[in-house]
Amino acid sequence: MSVITRFAPSPTGRLHVGNIRTALHNWMWARKTGGRFLLRIDDTDQARSREEHVASIRADLAWLGLVPDGEARQSERFDLYERRFAELVASGRIYPAYETQQELDLKRKILLGRGLPPVYDRAALGLTEADRARLEAEGIRPHWRFKLDHGAPIEWHDLIRGPQRFDPATMSDPVIRRADGSWLYLLPSVIDDIDLAITHVVRGEDHVSNTAAQLQMFAALGATPPAFAHEALLTGAEGKLSKRLGSLGADHFREAGIEPQALVALLARLGTSDPVEPLPDPAPLIEGFDFARFGRAPARFDEAELAQLNARIVHQLGHADVAGRLPPGMDEAGWHAIRPNLATVAEAADWWAVVEGPIDSVPDPDDADFLLTAAQTAAAIDWSTDPWHALTGALKEATGRKGKALFLPLRRALTGRDHGPDMAALLPLIGRDRALLRLRG
Ligand code: GLU
Repeated sequence: MSVITRFAPSPTGRLHVGNIRTALHNWMWARKTGGRFLLRIDDTDQARSREEHVASIRADLAWLGLVPDGEARQSERFDLYERRFAELVASGRIYPAYETQQELDLKRKILLGRGLPPVYDRAALGLTEADRARLEAEGIRPHWRFKLDHGAPIEWHDLIRGPQRFDPATMSDPVIRRADGSWLYLLPSVIDDIDLAITHVVRGEDHVSNTAAQLQMFAALGATPPAFAHEALLTGAEGKLSKRLGSLGADHFREAGIEPQALVALLARLGTSDPVEPLPDPAPLIEGFDFARFGRAPARFDEAELAQLNARIVHQLGHADVAGRLPPGMDEAGWHAIRPNLATVAEAADWWAVVEGPIDSVPDPDDADFLLTAAQTAAAIDWSTDPWHALTGALKEATGRKGKALFLPLRRALTGRDHGPDMAALLPLIGRDRALLRLRG
């Protein structure tokens, strides 16, 4: 049986970091097992779903390198839902209910007031055919509930959470379809997981109680359920469930100069017992991916950690990885010289401006003589191999300066800054002509 996973976002907004993590783990498991990774667009809620969000979900996955092997859209699958719904109505596992929202709210309040769990009382199951006919004659359209089987506890072995057990008698029969005929999430998801032969459902732990109800739906539809892995949710750096995380999407990270490889490297390991490492290639991350390595405690997502990881990944990127985003003229040697100093690829432009000039440098008057000597020396050295060591070596001999007194005035005069990339790599890029002008002030 080959593995098939699915990432099933609702296109009611953009993906946020939590969704991205779920998508990544589904993709990694499929890649690790040689299986397939599907994108399922959960757009049954036609009022809230937007085509622009479908497009942004696809674009964000592409940016991250999580390319789906196939795509399904729930809005194109209503015929299938209708057929399977009819089967469950016929077998008595789905029943119509006529309470209004106000009536249901009232029932809830009464139960809660008595200190009881607010479980639906199944009053609709007591209606006779005549009752239903009368209600419908009054123009009341039913919504539909799935009838949970109270016969035995619902149990499964969650790949992350371990053994799970729910008592169905403590759960309300879930509403699966609204009075206007529209679908709620629970049943279409099960129908699709069966139809698309999904073997692993990987999603957030906010779905655990849905899984309990959905397992009975798989059984009622005569299907073997997939395996489930429910991941602990992400918290903000401060350790709390944070609203901000819900608004951090691919756009935000892209604008902050975060490489998709950094996001992948962090989210692949966050919440596992493995260390987060700056691995720009996902292969070793995929190789080591295993649900058993995830803990049940919420995982902390820290943007500062991401930024650091990003810098360490930028330092490893090849020229070909970034060529389209570099300033014109910045070739492979330029990239290699400047890369170790970058936190983001975009910063390369700042350093390239230093190479190309003009630069602002205000030399210390005490260094004027030294710089004059430096300019004369620079005119005389061989520029073809290692001009920086040739220059500093000759200057050391001529002036007796060493260490900071030797290097800092040169760096300031040549770059206008006190810190920056290795001068041995930078000076050949600045080149003889510009260097001489800068040293002469
Ligand atoms: N559309 C659901 C959600 O975004 C999918 C949950 C699932 O993976 O089954 O929460």
